[in-house]
Amino acid sequence: MGVLSMKGGDGEHSYANNSEGQKRLASDAKAVVVETVKEMIVKIDFPGCIKVADLGCSSGENTLLVMSEIVNTIITSYQQKGKNLPEINCCLNDLPDNDFNTTFKLVPAFHKLLKMDVKGKCFISGVPGSFYSRLFPSKSLHFVHSSLCLHWLSKVPDGLEDNKKNVYLRSPCPPNVYKSYLTQFKNDFSLFLRLRADETVPNARMALTFVGRKSLDPLSKDCFQNWSLISDSLLDLVSEGIVKESDVDSFNLPFYNPDESEVREVIESEGSFKISNFETIFGLLFSYKTGRTEVKDDDDKLDQSFRFEVIRKRASIIRSITEPMLVAHFGDAIMDRLFERYTYHLAERYDTLRNKPTVQFFVSLTRK
Ligand code: SAH
Repeated sequence: MGVLSMKGGDGEHSYANNSEGQKRLASDAKAVVVETVKEMIVKIDFPGCIKVADLGCSSGENTLLVMSEIVNTIITSYQQKGKNLPEINCCLNDLPDNDFNTTFKLVPAFHKLLKMDVKGKCFISGVPGSFYSRLFPSKSLHFVHSSLCLHWLSKVPDGLEDNKKNVYLRSPCPPNVYKSYLTQFKNDFSLFLRLRADETVPNARMALTFVGRKSLDPLSKDCFQNWSLISDSLLDLVSEGIVKESDVDSFNLPFYNPDESEVREVIESEGSFKISNFETIFGLLFSYKTGRTEVKDDDDKLDQSFRFEVIRKRASIIRSITEPMLVAHFGDAIMDRLFERYTYHLAERYDTLRNKPTVQFFVSLTRK
């Protein structure tokens, strides 16, 4: 399980250097996060200590940008009411293999983003562990943020023996393969809610963003194209004799992009949280700086060489997310070749793919 973490460090394929799309999403969600924090503070009546957590913080600056928004909102809310500032504990959680140090090195920069000097009042801590286990003492948390994490399952589902030649759901997909993924998602998300219910105070809020899907029928088309391209690239390496076919057959990603009804059903049947807001964002996850400028996938005016630069960058984003998992199964010798093939397939299909929005859910929950 330790292999799920994003690629650490600050190299070319690191998460820290390949997460501008996620940063854009966080900034799209900012207004809602700010609003949610404000409401929460009033509801819990300005406590002397506030504990907030970012679950699945990964490495790099994104988590600290989110935390700075949260802390600044807390500062403003207390100031407007003429209250003394509370002590604020910002907890950054990810799996133990996550590269926390890259984030911790940015903490001085984080303090500079704050509206006032709160060094004696605002404490950052790292919380290594799976959010599918208990992470915090009972009734201690006031606000939980988690961006782009809950589509990661606690493990690869059981019963995927029939899912050969694919690393995820893909049409034609045996119905039991879909059922295995869905069951794993339901169990995991339900457990996540139950654990957070133990850890949060009444009226605590959670702001969760995750990758979803639009279609009710997961088998109607390729469920998540980025992963289909990985399957195709792996199969190329099988043809080249570099990868064993049986290794591809036995590899599946611990990922599931649910549709809205599946998410709602889990929240309602688990029962500890009320849905305060449920928004579907048709976003373009891929937004990034190339050597020249910032690019969004819907930019039409890409000349050929620039287009290639953009495709390479997008392949690098996928690499930053999947490389540790792929290396654990296939070894690291094949990575450069694999992502050369990935870049090739992406270029082939780029015109259909680039304007395809990714579906993201932004869900705001209140502890009953
Ligand atoms: N929130 C960040 C990172 C998203 S990447 C951002 O928006 O940029 C998803 C992160 O979730 C990864 O860092 C991965 O390690 C983490 N993650 C996945 N499963 C997890 C689990 N069970 N417990 C804690 N973190 C997890």
